[in-house]
Amino acid sequence: MAGDRRWDVVIVGAGMAGLATAIWARRLGLEPLVLEREHRAGGQLNQIGGRIFDYPGLDLPSGQALTERLLRQAAEAGAAVRLGLPVTAVSAATRTCTTSEGPVEGRALVIATGLRARRLEVEGEQELYAGGWVRRPSHDLPWFRGRRVAVIGGGDRAVENAGLLLPVARRVHLLSRSPLRARPDLSAPVLASEKVAHHEGARVARLLPRREAVTLEVVQGERRWELEVDAVCIYIGNQPNSQLVAGQVELDPQGYIVTDRYGQTSVPGVFAAGDVCTPPAYQSLVMAGGQAMAVAKRIALSL
Ligand code: NDP
Repeated sequence: MAGDRRWDVVIVGAGMAGLATAIWARRLGLEPLVLEREHRAGGQLNQIGGRIFDYPGLDLPSGQALTERLLRQAAEAGAAVRLGLPVTAVSAATRTCTTSEGPVEGRALVIATGLRARRLEVEGEQELYAGGWVRRPSHDLPWFRGRRVAVIGGGDRAVENAGLLLPVARRVHLLSRSPLRARPDLSAPVLASEKVAHHEGARVARLLPRREAVTLEVVQGERRWELEVDAVCIYIGNQPNSQLVAGQVELDPQGYIVTDRYGQTSVPGVFAAGDVCTPPAYQSLVMAGGQAMAVAKRIALSL
């Protein structure tokens, strides 16, 4: 049982940041335990269907391949990883996690819970997700062949996925409520394609899944119009999973955990690593890996 002993470091989340912290902690002679609510490790790595290209020197075919490597290294190092054991509450003051197996206490606690996708929060969205209408080009690109697709969002992720669709989709509607904020190298080929219609200032007010298609009710300035497509891709950014420590450690106005340069939060002994404490523009695998190293070293030096 996870709670039968007091661990040096209890890490919540088995994504890149959590697993890397555990590997570093073991290397530094600590006894870490990683708690992951899902039955598989990887977190957001599971959403990377294509090659990993934002980690210099590392060339792997997918997020899953990286997860497998991290798990293997964690096992070889002797780090304990418990999948499928959700942490339902945290006491930052006592560095204790509540689980269905009882309390799990660490001499240090690391929050590495990452992000969750932001929702539009409009009528029909729930039904759309439940019915499998929301699809990811990075996962099942062949499915999109010959289809009409609405991509909602104007950041790198939306535009990158619109770009993936260009060789296969029949028509791509890119709907952004503001001017695109995606990097020019991502947006230029998308905007130049004849397949793409970019609707700027377009807000999706309602989603109506029907038998064979989805109708989007769009508000654009004074105009309200309808768009029928075969699939919808929603990429409107993310929100940090900081709920477990909200009200206990300092969060920034967007809900990201505030840390010092070593990953220390406002509560002594409680650390954070990865996207849950990193502003969106700086979120990357390489950042999560570096933060994990800093956190593990800081803990090793302080214990
Ligand atoms: P971003 O936060 O960068 O962009 C979110 C987009 O969604 C914006 O266009 C925003 O519009 C829009 N949006 C937010 N809320 C709503 C809403 N309620 N309704 C409609 N639209 C909304 O998120 P991304 O997921 O695109 O990117 C996340 C991070 O990952 C970024 O830092 C990005 O740079 C990085 N990334 C990098 C890639 C790469 O380098 N290859 C690829 C993919 C992601 P508004 O501007 O009006 O707020």
